[in-house]
Amino acid sequence: MKRLALLGSMFFYLATSFGQAPAGVSNIYRATAEKINDLVHTKVDAKFDYSKSQMNGKVWITLKPHFYSTDSLTLDAKAMDIHQVALVKNSKNNPLKYDYDGMFLRIHLDRTYKNNEQYTVYIDYTAKPNEYKGTGSAAITDAKGLYFINPLGEEPNKPTEIWTQGETESNSVWLPTIDKPNQKQTVEVIMTVPSKYVTLSNGSLVSQKKNSDGTRTDDWKMNQPHSPYLIFMGVGDYAVVKDRYKNKEVSYYVEKEYAPVARKIFGKTPEMIALYSKLTGVDYPWVKYSQIVGRDYVSGAMENTTSTLHGESAQQDARELTDGNRWEEVIAHELFHQWFGDYVTTESWSNITLNESFATLGSQLWNEFHYGKDYGDHERYNSALGYIRSGSENKNLVRFYYNDKEDVFDAVSYNKGGAILQMLRNYVGDSAFFKSLNLYLNTYKYQAAEAQELRLAFEQVTGQDLNWFWNQWYYGSGHPKLNITYSYDNSAKQARVIVQQNTDKVFTLPVKIDVWNGNTPISYNVWVKNKIDTFNFSSPSKPNLINFDADKKLLAEKTENKTLDEYLFQYKNARNYVDRREAIEAARSKQAETTAAEILMAAMRDKFAPLRIYAISGLDVSIGQTKNAAEPILFELAQKDPDRPVKAAAIAKLGNYKFAKYNSLFRNAINDSSYTVAGNALEALSKIDSAGAAAEAKRLSAFPAKGKL
Ligand SMILES: [Zn+2]
Repeated sequence: MKRLALLGSMFFYLATSFGQAPAGVSNIYRATAEKINDLVHTKVDAKFDYSKSQMNGKVWITLKPHFYSTDSLTLDAKAMDIHQVALVKNSKNNPLKYDYDGMFLRIHLDRTYKNNEQYTVYIDYTAKPNEYKGTGSAAITDAKGLYFINPLGEEPNKPTEIWTQGETESNSVWLPTIDKPNQKQTVEVIMTVPSKYVTLSNGSLVSQKKNSDGTRTDDWKMNQPHSPYLIFMGVGDYAVVKDRYKNKEVSYYVEKEYAPVARKIFGKTPEMIALYSKLTGVDYPWVKYSQIVGRDYVSGAMENTTSTLHGESAQQDARELTDGNRWEEVIAHELFHQWFGDYVTTESWSNITLNESFATLGSQLWNEFHYGKDYGDHERYNSALGYIRSGSENKNLVRFYYNDKEDVFDAVSYNKGGAILQMLRNYVGDSAFFKSLNLYLNTYKYQAAEAQELRLAFEQVTGQDLNWFWNQWYYGSGHPKLNITYSYDNSAKQARVIVQQNTDKVFTLPVKIDVWNGNTPISYNVWVKNKIDTFNFSSPSKPNLINFDADKKLLAEKTENKTLDEYLFQYKNARNYVDRREAIEAARSKQAETTAAEILMAAMRDKFAPLRIYAISGLDVSIGQTKNAAEPILFELAQKDPDRPVKAAAIAKLGNYKFAKYNSLFRNAINDSSYTVAGNALEALSKIDSAGAAAEAKRLSAFPAKGKL
């Protein structure tokens, strides 16, 4: 879910709330929920009372004992009024005895049922979500499951909407159920709403019926089993923009104002579906894929099966979109959940990384395969950095101990989990990696899984024992902190790399080391596995560069004794985004040195826009050589760079020069279609012409804050 925290390069959904480890972590082992009864099918009939923000519900739940015979059923049902509980027999309701404490509905069945016997209970109830006092978390700010937005129409400029948020265990605020991720069931959701509104739920809309009282009843059926937290209802005055993937509907429910740009925001979805279908070898497994935008949403976005809900930040106008679609990674993340999370589901919140690490990986794969390797590497690197900066070294990836189930939605489950999958991919190779994912998906489809089951799929495909990898990364915490020392022994003609691990835990790390003499490297595959490891490579002369972790996939903090000359060589010759980024980072920190300027000037013209920005933003123009060398390049980028964020960064930096000669450059840029370019230009102008800038600001404020679509 809960893309609160994509921690991607450009987007922070809620990233900042990540990170701080709770003062004391619970010592209660969080077991997977015991299955006494299994959900088989739920049919719910929902009528909404907008005046009270309540829902009058009737639900028919079909279940069976999981294995052992039982004469009772406990359902999660939070803050409800329960009017009737009955057993449905021959289409008749036979009242059942029950106890209800506001959280659990304990039903006494009419007899003992065996595990081959299904039974159906009927419950008539009222859901009162505003009376539920459960709390949310960093990842979601609330937990009342069912939300009435502006129900009485009293707030101007805000549409009236209803949407639900199930993860983690909040759907049981509006639907009596067994609210655990290891339950799977088919579902029918029937909603009666004012006829001016559209509805959305899981699966297919099978019928619509107009009622005489101005309402309409929509019937949605989801014929493939999925978990209770993935059930969704959405109601509102939306425009529905339709695309297709093969013969399946792909649709975008947006506020009507945004209908003209809906495809600019969501329109890559069919291509994403095609990519994920191809990579996993599992064609999109559901009947349709819809995305809907909800006001005042409590998270970033949520991957309800076939019906993803996005926060309103997804809605961007045409001017905002000139800087790029800030929501694209979220769209990809939620979509990949349709395979990892919805088709195969984590069996417990302890294993949530089985959902979230894959969704994190999914958007990285989209960037890599659709836009190119630099884009994928950029997202992966920044995501990993998000984990490293979060200070969560004490948390295991699979976490059996936590205070609150919401706590596991953090930079470890998402960012670190994604980085670990990328390391695994690099270790086993793409072909084995995607074949293993295919096996995992096919083996556990419509079921719940835990991290060991992912290991078994990888072991079956690769033929290797991978316990070492799982024990280290899934059932352990932290990451390597490495001191890497390079040297050359001229008499022995040997290059030497000494790797020292500066953590109590000693990691086992398969790593590639490239030794460069001239323009082609020789690659060596080595295993780092001791507190100190020394690797010697014969080399006729001192290498131009020794590149440790040449694939740049290792999740580690590194301290290296590389010179700027070596970094310059690395910038120009090594293969990866991270090679160049590390060189720029080294240059940013030593700008008084001539070679640093050389790296930075080259990087300002890097082929990859985010690295141009990284170089520009790091320029220290108080240093004479940097200032003089950078000025003509900044001037050129400020005028001509095709990438708007680069242009904006160049203008901002040029503003620091405070040169009156750039007055007209800044004034022209103020009229750029990009908000970022225009905003930075206004600020740059204010540094040389405050009266002029004030006049421009006044002129601009005469326009609506958000341009019309
Ligand atoms: Zn997610």
